[in-house]
Amino acid sequence: MTKERKYEICRVCGYVRLVGKGGRCPACGVRDTAFVPFQHKASFNRRTFLKLDVHPVAVHFTITYTAVSALLFFALLFVDELLGVPIQGILDLQITFLPLLIVSGGMTGLIDGKIRFRKIKTPYLLRKIILGCILFVVSVILLIIHTLNPGDDTMFLLIEGIIISIAFFIASYLGWIGAELISPIVPMGKIES
Ligand SMILES: [Zn+2]
Repeated sequence: MTKERKYEICRVCGYVRLVGKGGRCPACGVRDTAFVPFQHKASFNRRTFLKLDVHPVAVHFTITYTAVSALLFFALLFVDELLGVPIQGILDLQITFLPLLIVSGGMTGLIDGKIRFRKIKTPYLLRKIILGCILFVVSVILLIIHTLNPGDDTMFLLIEGIIISIAFFIASYLGWIGAELISPIVPMGKIES
């Protein structure tokens, strides 16, 4: 797998493919005369890892999970079950596993950052690490409050509602920074002259 193959890039849309495929650009549809030789900057192994999107997959799942937890929490204020399924049990499970998911998002983020940017102390990555740690603490506090909650105590519900909303906003903001980092994924490469 160490042998670098030859690549070409579509000058119109930036799609990169192996030389020899021929035909129109599968991404934007222009004729193959738009393709010019291209050299990747990142190694094959590094590109392959990043293409797996381990961290994006882990965090998208975690953000959705946090949003669903918040939705279930607020739904429970009005109804006890959805389609005959008791909400309380699902919410208990969701909140129990949330810290674990946040850890998985953080671990994959550290690996991803190290491979993608070669360092994890850039301003955005530092911000993500700090916010990720805060989110983890928030999720643990949420778990404690949720476990202590005797049921329908208004004060507990209010605190839990605030904490679960904070968790959702931090998770969303982390996702927003992640989206900002999409284009500088890896210095892509250069057109060969
Ligand atoms: Zn194209």
